[in-house]
Amino acid sequence: MPVKCVFAAAHPWRRAGLGWLALIGLTLLVGATPAAGSAAAEHPHLLKPARVFDGTHPQPHEGWMVLVRGERIEQVGPNLTAPPDAVVTDLPGQTLLPGLIEGHSHIFLHPYNETAWDDQVLHEPLALRTARATVAARATLLAGFTTIRDLGTEGAGYADVGLKLAIEQGIVPGPRMLVATRALVAPGAYGPKGFEAGVGIPQGAEEADGPSLVTAARRQIGAGADVVKLYADYHWRPGEPSRPTFTEAEMRAAVEAAHSAGRTVAAHANTAESMRRATLAGVDTIEHGGEGTLEIFKLMRAHNVAFCPTLAASDAVSRYHGWNGQDPAPAAVAESRAAFAAAIQSGVTLCVGGDVGVFPHGENWREMELMSAAGLPPAQVLVVATSTNAHTFGLGEQLGAVKAGMLADLIAVEGDPTRDIHAIRAVKFVMKGGQVYRNGSMP
Ligand SMILES: [Zn+2]
Repeated sequence: MPVKCVFAAAHPWRRAGLGWLALIGLTLLVGATPAAGSAAAEHPHLLKPARVFDGTHPQPHEGWMVLVRGERIEQVGPNLTAPPDAVVTDLPGQTLLPGLIEGHSHIFLHPYNETAWDDQVLHEPLALRTARATVAARATLLAGFTTIRDLGTEGAGYADVGLKLAIEQGIVPGPRMLVATRALVAPGAYGPKGFEAGVGIPQGAEEADGPSLVTAARRQIGAGADVVKLYADYHWRPGEPSRPTFTEAEMRAAVEAAHSAGRTVAAHANTAESMRRATLAGVDTIEHGGEGTLEIFKLMRAHNVAFCPTLAASDAVSRYHGWNGQDPAPAAVAESRAAFAAAIQSGVTLCVGGDVGVFPHGENWREMELMSAAGLPPAQVLVVATSTNAHTFGLGEQLGAVKAGMLADLIAVEGDPTRDIHAIRAVKFVMKGGQVYRNGSMP
């Protein structure tokens, strides 16, 4: 998806003071809603769903229970006994599963049919964007997505680092966040575009190349980036198809800098050539991949690069342009479906990440439904959205599975999503780090 991800270096809105004002305002707004989650529950918590999907095995375990103590899972299995001081929560008819992990979000964007991307980047003050992002974070968490990998603030600078802190400090409710700060783009490649040449226009990402690409990646890491986002291709001119931007050598240098700092690298790439370059350069994930071929996905598999197809982005943008969802699908949708089919065939590691922000936060399930509709069995979609995403993003030791010792990020949905993926919309219970954020219908 030519989904734009961005940023403006020298823009006046980016002054940190405005961001903090927004967060203070937010605290007032959100403070009265469900416990913002600073301390984990004092009492152990026994959860009794109809079944447990553990994040790894496709088949759910009927009759299992989960005992949580503090921020972690203590015991999992049938016939657990509640300690005398335990809080017991019955979840009849529900499936308990690991908190879902969104692999590709833009928490600082809102749907393009509300405001065009160019206008969000150029005309929305940072405080407005930050205030809206806190609401998006809450919606994301209550939809059962307890972790997000946020791949670029798109003009909102380093506000993702501040939002992550606000969530960690319990000021506002939201998911755990892996943040990219500003995506990195080749000079001249990104947007907004279409202005008088030579006039400096705020950009949706940070421009850098050659040795400065490594410098920029390091500065971002020092400023709080957990993941480095590179644009391996883009439309050089408005209306032009995507073409490669960085060379393989440029990306390899940035990847070395990121990996040596313990960070991962995500590459936006739609063309087969830029997917090839990014793969050989050693990135960890490739986003979109609309022109990916079986050969390219096999190359990715051989190099242990995961694929995030973002089916929901092309679907949403096509609907904004008038598509009613029926066949024949528009070219962009047909292209991403074909790439996804080739990816499944290749055995490449998949990632659930919908490019949410292009469409409403809290509807992150769209990507999971589209992956299922495109041929991946529901239980496999759930494995990818939990344990696979956790491992791909370096979180597999703590998150993505219902297992003793893991962090207690747990959700429950009505019905059995391993049989019918649409059940994933029916979230009834959300716990993050042992703290309950939702119990029952929408709070
Ligand atoms: Zn994106």
